[in-house]
Amino acid sequence: MTRIPELIVFDLDYTLWPFWVDTHVTPPFKKDPKTGNISDRHGQNIKPYPEVPKMLKHLHDNNYTLAVASRTGEIEGANSLLQLLDWDKYFKYKEIYPGDKTRHFSRFQKDSGLPYEDMLFFDDENRNIVSVSALGVTCILVQNGMSMAELEKGLKRFVNKHK
Ligand SMILES: [Mg+2]
Repeated sequence: MTRIPELIVFDLDYTLWPFWVDTHVTPPFKKDPKTGNISDRHGQNIKPYPEVPKMLKHLHDNNYTLAVASRTGEIEGANSLLQLLDWDKYFKYKEIYPGDKTRHFSRFQKDSGLPYEDMLFFDDENRNIVSVSALGVTCILVQNGMSMAELEKGLKRFVNKHK
């Protein structure tokens, strides 16, 4: 029987969006009610990686449970962006605060009751891949942000690991 991940976890900076929310953009963020465009305090336009909205909707429509794990210190800004992007509906769990990501995953484990082996994780930083892999989570190092191709790669890796 093919096993699929019971929980798919995404990093934020350089995984779902192409910037560090604590450095490259400046809160508060706002959304133009007419155009839906999101901008920061200086009017800089804010966009996720192009395929990410489609990818999240695809996973949500296929009943995957999704989560966010970020080490950013800009907790309020990150949460505000998730809300403005209208992504809160996709993420059942959110752990956003500095520190080793094993801490974030320990919370996912407790809150979901799922074993680490049932989780799939995407992140652009090798230090997070190393520490979270050690828990038994299937981890994918993302090179140029999330895309449908990157997602497929991760899902395949998960299936092959659990054969
Ligand atoms: Mg990152």
